[in-house]
Amino acid sequence: MEIIICDVLISGGTIITQNSTRAIIQNGSISIKGSEIIDIGNKEDVDFKYSARKMIDARGKYIFPGLINTHTHLFQTFIKGLGEGLSLYQWVDGIAAPSAFGMSEKQAYLSTILGGMEAIHCGTTTLLDFMYSMPHSRLHRQVGNGLRDIGLRGVLGLGLMENGEEHGLSPCQFRPVTEALAEWHEIMEEYKGGNLSFALAPEIPFGISPNSFRAIREFANKHGILITIHINETLDDDKVNLKDYQKRAVPFLEELGFWGEDVVGVHCVKMQPEDIEIFAKNDVKISHNPVSNMYLGVGVAPIMDLKQSGLTISLGTDGAGSNNSQDMLEVMKSTGLLHKVHHQNPAVMNAQTILDMATLGGAKALGQADRIGSLEVNKQADLFIFDPFKPKSAPVFDPVSSLVFSSGPENVSTTIVAGNILMEERKIIGFDELEILQECQESAWELAKRVGYIPNFLKL
Ligand SMILES: [Zn+2]
Repeated sequence: MEIIICDVLISGGTIITQNSTRAIIQNGSISIKGSEIIDIGNKEDVDFKYSARKMIDARGKYIFPGLINTHTHLFQTFIKGLGEGLSLYQWVDGIAAPSAFGMSEKQAYLSTILGGMEAIHCGTTTLLDFMYSMPHSRLHRQVGNGLRDIGLRGVLGLGLMENGEEHGLSPCQFRPVTEALAEWHEIMEEYKGGNLSFALAPEIPFGISPNSFRAIREFANKHGILITIHINETLDDDKVNLKDYQKRAVPFLEELGFWGEDVVGVHCVKMQPEDIEIFAKNDVKISHNPVSNMYLGVGVAPIMDLKQSGLTISLGTDGAGSNNSQDMLEVMKSTGLLHKVHHQNPAVMNAQTILDMATLGGAKALGQADRIGSLEVNKQADLFIFDPFKPKSAPVFDPVSSLVFSSGPENVSTTIVAGNILMEERKIIGFDELEILQECQESAWELAKRVGYIPNFLKL
């Protein structure tokens, strides 16, 4: 029998495949060639067929599909902790938007690298970045450069906002949607290929005119890209929409033909039954961000109702400004805890359901279910290796439960995206992590001082 050359052979671990039967392979191996998984099965059926350029001994460890974060704002990594105690709009208009406006290109890049490093340490392999609307696209390019350099699979979202000063929105974010879309087309050409794809990201319903919403829908249809929008994070979307158009936000956007299966609705906390019906009819995907929702005190998204309507639920961290990290392991645990206490029922949501949201749900939400979200032949080799021998996780009985409820970044030893090893033995390859952390510390302070948003308790 001819020996096949492969690039990476991960040998002898317990593989949590997340395939359609949720099969778990004990003493399993995964063979990777290029960006794809070319074989997966029992070690004795796989290993002898391959000669690998790189061998990873996974005995005693667990191999999971990479986690998929469907909502973040990586630039906010530099404003971590600056919004403590503020409500959503106090924080967005008082800190987040002016910080983005004042940020240098280098700072946007560093912020992306720092957030990306944390994501990799927490087993995330794909994330959707929602870069705020700015009068130019220079920072959007830096997010693209950062994601490309650190190696994560990314969806680059173009934040869009053009008006709404009368509703308290910060004009520093305004840019005509037509102008932003024209430049986005150039950026898509420039960054296409590799592991990046694209999305349009209207920030909230009341920052964009009806005509521009139609233009966004047209652009997404024409180019086959996603749309993502913050929706019903608070009651303000409905209040402002009722005032301006005598219709609540979700039904109003339905009239414009905005909703579709390619839309990722973020937060979805204040949902009326009619909103859920409209979402179900259009197969809108949900990005649930429980840590951010709790931190900003906005409420509990009706995830069980949304699930019962057949909607796809995925998970997101949100930006580090309202999370205050990029830790999807923490998001998974928080999802379970929040809904258990909200329903006063410990059985309302189990670990498997939560892992499904963070993997398969994320893949479906991003329109990439055929490529990522599970470990199967012909899918992309996006995965992480879980080392159970840490005090927080040991002893492991059910690996899915351990991952969701008893793990931390210290358990993630290796992270692979598209067959590239981004981190091995908890060291990110090609980056001096300490040097970057020190540079980010200094640079983030410079930004905060310059923009003038250092809270009193931090003033020296
Ligand atoms: Zn957000």
